[in-house]
Amino acid sequence: MQNNNKLKFVVLNFALILFLNFGYGQTNNITVRFIGNCGLYMTDGTSNIYFDFPYKSGAHHYSEYNLSELDSVKNHPVFIYTHRHSDHFSGRLVRKLSKKLDGQIFTPRNAEKLKNLNKELKDFTIEPIHTKHHFSFNHYSYLITWHNKKIFISGDTETSDTIATQKDLDWAFVPVWLLVDAMEKKINLGGISKMFAIYHIGPRDQITNAAADPKIKLLNKQGERIAISY
Ligand SMILES: [Zn+2]
Repeated sequence: MQNNNKLKFVVLNFALILFLNFGYGQTNNITVRFIGNCGLYMTDGTSNIYFDFPYKSGAHHYSEYNLSELDSVKNHPVFIYTHRHSDHFSGRLVRKLSKKLDGQIFTPRNAEKLKNLNKELKDFTIEPIHTKHHFSFNHYSYLITWHNKKIFISGDTETSDTIATQKDLDWAFVPVWLLVDAMEKKINLGGISKMFAIYHIGPRDQITNAAADPKIKLLNKQGERIAISY
């Protein structure tokens, strides 16, 4: 009898674990993989979106990346760029990859076409927001809403005025100078986003999360992943 009960418990437990794994388990994630500079690969398991990648490896003394990154780009990729500086964008590489893998390319020059993605991709909307960047006439930041998660891609813009108008973001991807600008302007970052990921950290930069702020994630390891569950 005792043994029987034990067995029942084990079976029940086993069923519960299976249920958790295959039912409403942790499979519902948007995964963000940091490639280098502002290069990000995002997927919900169905769509494959690349921000500011491929760029020219090592351009402007910023991060290099392993060439295997180019080989690992998935089929039907969507490439979205904040601007066309070479530490963010390589026209030659992205055209080649897009042709090979049946992709789509969006830069500030055709950003208005991004609204087509809102119909193509599941539970996805993207809003391009024109922002300023020195020496670049055309620079966009992007607000994505994907499976009801709000993700903000800042790019290289120097001023925090645009992000200051956002609220209830889940993740904001920003360079460190944007946070410095926001702090100088006494903008309440807490109300803007639950989490901040700091990207575009070059090999010459020394950036630490000195206060160990749990809302700040330093993207200083290439290949690192962030999971956003929904
Ligand atoms: Zn840059």
